[in-house]
Amino acid sequence: MRIGQYRTTDAQTPWAGVATDDGVVDLAEAGAAAGIHVPDRTSNLLADWEWRRKADLAVEYAESTGVGVRDPADLDRAAPVDDPQKVVCVGLNYRDHAEEGDNEIPDEPVLFSKFPTSVVGPDDAVRWDPDYTEKVDYEAELVAVIGERARRVDPDEALDHVAGFTVGNDVSARDLQHGDGQWVRGKSLDTFAPTGPELVTTDEIDDPHDLDIFAEINGERLQESSTENLIFGVDELISFCSRAFTLEPGDLVFTGTPPGVGVYREPPVLLGDGDSVTIGVEGVGELTNSFETE
Ligand code: ZN
Repeated sequence: MRIGQYRTTDAQTPWAGVATDDGVVDLAEAGAAAGIHVPDRTSNLLADWEWRRKADLAVEYAESTGVGVRDPADLDRAAPVDDPQKVVCVGLNYRDHAEEGDNEIPDEPVLFSKFPTSVVGPDDAVRWDPDYTEKVDYEAELVAVIGERARRVDPDEALDHVAGFTVGNDVSARDLQHGDGQWVRGKSLDTFAPTGPELVTTDEIDDPHDLDIFAEINGERLQESSTENLIFGVDELISFCSRAFTLEPGDLVFTGTPPGVGVYREPPVLLGDGDSVTIGVEGVGELTNSFETE
């Protein structure tokens, strides 16, 4: 199942819909017509008891009756989860990336965070003030979306707490990130966490540790790897995080980026007004955002 969030007007709170061959199924509307209460926002949906069964029933009802099916052309896409409580990220988590920079393979994940206010969706632009940062960079990432509260879970149970995966761009202001001595400001500017286009549920992904991943800047491929190069897999990351803090439904875990980010290229590739970045993860989707100075 591919769960996105949509809106028909700019002012509307995004609502969860499932992308199907017929169109986008408005889960709350189709559910209500079928006599099932389905929360209208992804974060609330994932926190709901038996959410997957309810969503399946709503989609079945919509497909047989046409109720709640919307034409995607009439909709704007929002982030699949636009209101996570936490956005957790991990540094240096690809073997090939570590080797490229002559870094040692870390013994434990190094965590940092982006503030939830940085999250935007597949139709949104990444915007920044060029007087505030001059070094805006991209990072292609597989993002795990938490489905069930996780506290002190073992790696072998951790994936049971994941609802699915989406594509993320861990946009980074390198001058702020490296100038501050810690990363939260450079990683958390508004709009610096594009995610989407949809949350793809775990049953559709055979092995999250065997997916091709890439970044293209204005059509040129500058990052290309596979999640088989992850040093700490999704299961280990979730387990590691959950020993420190509770992961809640809708929380996003960015799993790190492969080699080829702009700041370490010769010459460096930094993003400017009018650039377009596409991040792709095999089986999960492609996320394209425009980059604009303001
Ligand atoms: Zn990153």
